[in-house]
Amino acid sequence: MHSFVAEATDTPGYLAHPIPEPVLPDNFYRADRTLQRLLRRYFPNQPEEWAWAKDFLTEWGGVCAQQVEPLIATADKNGPTLRQFDRRGDRVDELIFHPAYHEISRLAYSNGLAGMSNGPGFRGRQAPTSQLVKFAAMYLFTQADGSISCPVSMTDILTRVLKMYASPALLDRYLSGLTTLDYDRLLTGAMFMTEKTGGSDVGATTTVAVPKEEWWELSGDKWFCSNAGADLILTLARPEGAAPGTRGLGLFLVPKILPDGSRNSYEINRLKDKLGTRAMASGEITFRQTKAYLIEPLERGFVMMMEMVNGTRLHSGVAGAANLRRAVLEATLHGRERKSFGRPLIEQPLFADQLADLVVDSDASTALFLEAAYRLDQSDRRQTTEAKVLSRLLIALLKGYATDHGVKAAQKALEMRGGNGYIEDWPNARLLRDSLVQIIWEGGINMVAFEVLRTLERENAWPLYAAALQNELARIQSPGLTTPVNSLKICIELVGREVERLLAQPRATQEIVAPHLAEAMASLYAAVLLIANANESLTAQDQAARRDLESARRYYTRFLQPLLENLKRPANAGSVDELLGNVVPAE
Ligand SMILES: Cc1cc2nc3c(=O)[nH]c(=O)nc-3n(C[C@H](O)[C@H](O)[C@H](O)COP(=O)(O)OP(=O)(O)OC[C@H]3O[C@@H](n4cnc5c(N)ncnc54)[C@H](O)[C@@H]3O)c2cc1C
Repeated sequence: MHSFVAEATDTPGYLAHPIPEPVLPDNFYRADRTLQRLLRRYFPNQPEEWAWAKDFLTEWGGVCAQQVEPLIATADKNGPTLRQFDRRGDRVDELIFHPAYHEISRLAYSNGLAGMSNGPGFRGRQAPTSQLVKFAAMYLFTQADGSISCPVSMTDILTRVLKMYASPALLDRYLSGLTTLDYDRLLTGAMFMTEKTGGSDVGATTTVAVPKEEWWELSGDKWFCSNAGADLILTLARPEGAAPGTRGLGLFLVPKILPDGSRNSYEINRLKDKLGTRAMASGEITFRQTKAYLIEPLERGFVMMMEMVNGTRLHSGVAGAANLRRAVLEATLHGRERKSFGRPLIEQPLFADQLADLVVDSDASTALFLEAAYRLDQSDRRQTTEAKVLSRLLIALLKGYATDHGVKAAQKALEMRGGNGYIEDWPNARLLRDSLVQIIWEGGINMVAFEVLRTLERENAWPLYAAALQNELARIQSPGLTTPVNSLKICIELVGREVERLLAQPRATQEIVAPHLAEAMASLYAAVLLIANANESLTAQDQAARRDLESARRYYTRFLQPLLENLKRPANAGSVDELLGNVVPAE
């Protein structure tokens, strides 16, 4: 066969191609030794559990790298279309996806991403799979896919919410469809909450619910509806005459297909033309006397919906961590090969230093998401208020931190590939586009910072947070780690004082400081986890011990310290009225 490459390389004076063609690892789990060590920490006396988790994740890491990764660019470039009418003019609102979308979905659902934690029997196991292992699997998946993980995560968490709150009859009707590994039998889930009035201010919801004999009927518009073709939808609506705000909202389950086989009456008006997550369908929906099941009790609708939001926030935070990891992979593989000024980029001091920052931030986000998943398991197991509060706090911290840093890392990795990073032939542009939405949905950075504030103020979360960190530090025995451990203890005291001071401030000051405090608290938690990990590597005489220690040290100086310094700045920088009032001159 004629080969242009062979011909070119035979030519005297031929130079190796100046643009590297990096080869991703063929297994996202096996290639990620840091993930392996951080995860191993959670299986101290459970060799069988650890062996099972390792085997599963090793197999799944191969599927993600070898099967999901090659499909995602095609799915992204050939997004779904909406066919609203059939040839006789009847409304059908059918979504048409590229086969690559279905193939990725089939891989995700048949490997249990939505089902494994919601029931027994996954791969012969008696108990449901832990959140820890499930989220580790999501982390591997989302390094390749930034779109289909959205429907998968909503299906997973909708099932969790139904298991918590739905009547036995309702659960019985849908559980096996939601958790099946058979893609052709699968029911997928969605959450239609955001209306034109605002996704942050859910209390402004205008959709109305009217009780009928067998059902409730919902009428109103939902403005952002991902997985628009879902089989089951959780949504909020206000019964006529109910209280304003979130208190008056009921939680409803809307099936796409009614028990008699007919299609429920709601319309997909159009699909969003999105910056990212383009493989997946997000639409605008109108409920028109749409039949829905009430999830009781009526007056706790919003509280129950927050379980859904909390779970999908955790998925979002995991996606943020996955974006960091993918950014590190892309930048490292590129930097090793690409030469500039006669040397590979990775040997240039500034490039290497910036890449090392990405590496440790990725370590920190990985440590944080594993801890958040573990704390959710603890909360489910113990069912105590303390465990629930700590879990909720950690999810909010992770969501804010990892989604934000995931975007920054995706942007940096794009810059590190230079002009090619900006070109859609390479994965960086998609990574950046997909990472951006993680900040927005399930509540932006400001909203999750308010959630942190709420847990501190109303649920007294600080002592729980501080105790978790102190316990972690108390277990560190390596003599060489006394200084960093003491420094971290001082940091805990410092942040504790800031929290106390802040809670005594007026609400406006609290809100302004909240995102900075949340980021510092997330970073402090991550710093403690990284030093604990270094301790375990040292104790086990793992050959990665020096590397883990360096990661903890760099993270402390480069990330945590500046955030703590920032916390000490005065919150009030003066009046904003003059500044904001003159952006557009008054007529
Ligand atoms: C691609 C995509 C898919 C989506 N899919 C879904 C879905 O499936 N289901 C669903 O329910 N929603 C979905 N959303 C909607 C998303 O959750 C909302 O966009 C988000 O919650 C923000 O709401 P909003 O757009 O109305 O912005 P607003 O609520 O108007 O907020 C605008 C900005 O102001 C900030 N803000 C609001 N209040 C305050 C305050 N008091 N102080 C400081 N800052 C504040 C917010 O953080 C935000 O950054 C999706 C969004 C996108 C982009």
